[in-house]
Amino acid sequence: MYDISKVRADFPILERKVYGKPLIYLDNGATTQKPRSVVDAMVEEYYSVNANVHRGVHFLSQQATELHEAGRETVRNFINARTTNEIVFTRGTTESINLLAFCFGEEFMSEGDEVIISTMEHHSNIVPWQLLAARKGIAIKVIPMNDRGELLMDEYERLFSKRTKLVSVTHVSNVLGTVNPVKEMIEKAHAHGVPVLIDGAQAVPHIAVDVQDLDADFYAFSGHKVYGPTGIGVLYGKEEWLDLLPPYQGGGEMIQTVTFEKTTFNELPFKFEAGTPDYIATTALARALDYVTGLGMNHIAAHEHELTQYAMQRLREIPGMRLIGEAEQKSSVVSFLVGNIHPFDMGTLLDRLGIAVRTGHHCAQPLMHRLGIEGTVRASFGLYNTREEIDTLVAGVERVSNMF
Ligand code: PLP
Repeated sequence: MYDISKVRADFPILERKVYGKPLIYLDNGATTQKPRSVVDAMVEEYYSVNANVHRGVHFLSQQATELHEAGRETVRNFINARTTNEIVFTRGTTESINLLAFCFGEEFMSEGDEVIISTMEHHSNIVPWQLLAARKGIAIKVIPMNDRGELLMDEYERLFSKRTKLVSVTHVSNVLGTVNPVKEMIEKAHAHGVPVLIDGAQAVPHIAVDVQDLDADFYAFSGHKVYGPTGIGVLYGKEEWLDLLPPYQGGGEMIQTVTFEKTTFNELPFKFEAGTPDYIATTALARALDYVTGLGMNHIAAHEHELTQYAMQRLREIPGMRLIGEAEQKSSVVSFLVGNIHPFDMGTLLDRLGIAVRTGHHCAQPLMHRLGIEGTVRASFGLYNTREEIDTLVAGVERVSNMF
């Protein structure tokens, strides 16, 4: 069973106060707090195992390498990839998408080719394609959405052409909370012979992800959004695709042999991991994944679903409330505006009550444009949030509204 007070006790930061008020942390979409087991793993490894990986014959280096590669296996198991060759460590979702845009673009795209993205993408799944467009003259097609924040599947179908080379869409919107029907979208893309990259930054912390069941060709996520450390992320890629792609960066680790005339590249996944990896973070990420696995992704999803439904229901009662994003399939994000109160004012005043929410465009300016707004207030929930915290949020929003 899901014992919330036991869960909260694993996160020391939740005990702190801000402005004399108990911290209510509702900015989990931006980053999550860390359980003790994750931070302890980092301290422990620095104090007792630290050595560079993959290179040393000595004891510490071998032990560090074992931990690092065990971390890769934990990630493989967590998303159910077929082999650890399919797990590339990056700095985060942003780097994973940039890596793929660069390598896939180099190998498979030329002027006039097309990539399909959606209206609700984070900038990190827009700008890399624009950089590729500037370099190679590719075109970007955009799946539209309805006013509830759901992608239009008929329109999606119509975007495919003979020049479509890749679909790159978010699994869960960081603004609307919409859970996109990615399995169905992948199936449709495959029917056109087109591979798919899924941006899983906002999905992996909240719902169980099985890359084989989805049949995703590529899947990206960030460690820090799933209770792990900053600076580490994952790009999953089917082995048959990764094998075909050229390297991303050159340097140590990614080579087999080097002469001044010619270099041969290392096998998967090391071909894509130039330089010393953040091997401390990979171990800590594995501890974070162990943590959420221990609680059970299905229990976490159920807990957060209940919180989200409760928050929407309570917030709706406030006069002037406009909820942004009312998709049928929705994850742990609630965006809103009240009357004509600027999101920044709402966020600043909630902060004085100890409530941490995010305000602004949430790195999704084209989505804001589609919605005809400048920004929203966003409360995003994590596995440690409670109904009482939502009550405090609602009371806070009411109090701020009454001030205006
Ligand atoms: N994609 C989505 C949907 C996100 O919400 C975010 C971060 O907010 C990112 C990508 C980028 O993640 P990171 O900054 O960890 O690379």
